[in-house]
Amino acid sequence: MRTEYAYAPHVHDVLIIGSGAAGISLALRLADRARVGVVSKGPLTEGSTLYAQGGISAVLDQHDSIDSHVSDTLNAGAGLCDERIVRYTVAHSPACIDWLQAQGVTFTHVTSPDGCSALHLTREGGHSHRRVVHAADATGQAVETTLTNRLVSHANVEAFENHIAIDLITTRKLTGQGNRCIGAYVRDRSTGRIEVFAAKFIILATGGASKVYLYTSNPDTSSGDGLAMAWRVGCRVANMEFIQFHPTCLYHPKAKSFLVTEAIRGEGGRLLLPDGTEFMHRFDPRGVLAPRDIVARAIDNEMKRLGVDCVYLDISHKPAHFITSNFPNVYKHCLEFGFDLTRTPVPVVPAAHYTCGGVITDIRARTDVGNLYAIGEVACTGLHGANRLASNSLLECLVFAKAAADDITSLLEQPQSETDIPPWDESKVTDSDEEVVVSHNWDELRRFMWDYVGIVRTTKRLQRAKRRVDLLTGEINEYYRHFRVTDDLIELRNLVSVADLIIRSAMLRKESRGLHYTRDHPYPDETAPTRNTVLEPEQFNLATPINQLLVGTDA
Ligand SMILES: Cc1cc2nc3c(=O)[nH]c(=O)nc-3n(C[C@H](O)[C@H](O)[C@H](O)COP(=O)(O)OP(=O)(O)OC[C@H]3O[C@@H](n4cnc5c(N)ncnc54)[C@H](O)[C@@H]3O)c2cc1C
Repeated sequence: MRTEYAYAPHVHDVLIIGSGAAGISLALRLADRARVGVVSKGPLTEGSTLYAQGGISAVLDQHDSIDSHVSDTLNAGAGLCDERIVRYTVAHSPACIDWLQAQGVTFTHVTSPDGCSALHLTREGGHSHRRVVHAADATGQAVETTLTNRLVSHANVEAFENHIAIDLITTRKLTGQGNRCIGAYVRDRSTGRIEVFAAKFIILATGGASKVYLYTSNPDTSSGDGLAMAWRVGCRVANMEFIQFHPTCLYHPKAKSFLVTEAIRGEGGRLLLPDGTEFMHRFDPRGVLAPRDIVARAIDNEMKRLGVDCVYLDISHKPAHFITSNFPNVYKHCLEFGFDLTRTPVPVVPAAHYTCGGVITDIRARTDVGNLYAIGEVACTGLHGANRLASNSLLECLVFAKAAADDITSLLEQPQSETDIPPWDESKVTDSDEEVVVSHNWDELRRFMWDYVGIVRTTKRLQRAKRRVDLLTGEINEYYRHFRVTDDLIELRNLVSVADLIIRSAMLRKESRGLHYTRDHPYPDETAPTRNTVLEPEQFNLATPINQLLVGTDA
């Protein structure tokens, strides 16, 4: 008996969830040989990629070398990088830049005195050479918009904007046989309908999870959906305690996610407490020029010690023309919120910026579940270890999109048994009359993650957070079982799951290393071998249906 659908399922060879640098580059690499579906929960271009400013690291300078880039990456990763993966990623960097240029991405060039044009390379913190390829200070925008334009005009690609994936569908969940991913339930946000997407290969390219924190430099898309979906179908995740915080985001209720560049401190900017006193020299002899994680930690310490909402970044002592010519975008943006950089200090807070951990993948981007891949910020490839080297993340998106494309291409023609996918069943749920539960829990979660699981951790704070996250998990799951899903509920359910993974990972690491700093163990544990924090989805078992609302399958 065939399943009766109210809406026909969408069927593709490859379903890509997410349209940032990782998802779109994979789609373009596969589109000539496979039917590709791309779903994106907002407009296609929205995601962290669009906002990347600095650039993409690649070994292109004649004085640079693969070994040097590998060594810088290993140093940043504080003993937890997988050297084989680091070398693989770095070795593929020049080819990825060539590929982007072949797609039409225009990077900033310099012309030498003899008239030759070459890519302009910048040098960023932690890199011992100039190796960051960029498109002025809007690299992500150049990459995202160019690739998206190519994608939408490709005959073999069907793009679904404003479609939010809710859950992955696996053979184990449906039939108890094997554990192969065969599709996803996706909510069309414009109609509210939940549709079936079926494919031979499914790729999570959903970005990071920084939205689990009150303050983040990331756009709203970074709610850890892919991580939570992968965890629910049985994928292991690793190193979730390593969250990178950017020290200075503009603090204003309406200035969502705006980074105030670290270059301001490099040009003499001072960090001040609300009463005007400087404080960085108390934390590091380099003062405001200390590395990013030390500055973020010092600001956090002072905010918590004094109970203040923000600190201030001041460069108003420099001539106005110096500020407006060196930082035109930041100047303009701050002015829109009423802060004139040339006259007054601007309020700043640190913000969650990058999720180093994620779904464990191998060198081909495969996860623990058959035919399910993860690429980009959602994945934990072993490249970043305990701390990400600047501009290595876009590179990782591109390199592992290529790895996944090669692997999928080699498997495309293999026959696969078909499993009937049941439609989503909403017969046992009603519309919520208590939306306040979602909005309240959403705020509470992000606030306690900031206060207790943020930049500086202690065992007590983590225990406090764990008690709260357990409570919220129960409440949200209960709510999920009874009410029709909404976009906010989908994201909240994922955020609470990711929060739990971060807290549990942080509790397991009884040392300070890389981005994980705990006052109870303030130094790296040099007596024990360095290890990654790997969480196994032990609650995953056949008794748990993929969603409590599914009708039985006739497969
Ligand atoms: C302000 C800022 C500056 C940065 N600067 C740099 C830099 O200079 N260099 C560098 O290397 N890195 C930088 N980074 C990090 C880098 O931008 C990201 O790590 C990278 O862009 C992640 O790409 P991605 O494709 O994995 O995810 P994203 O670009 O975040 O895309 C995720 C996609 O998944 C979709 N999605 C998520 N959940 C769902 C769902 N449930 N259903 C459907 N779709 C979903 C989103 O809509 C989006 O399309 C920066 C990050 C930020 C925020």
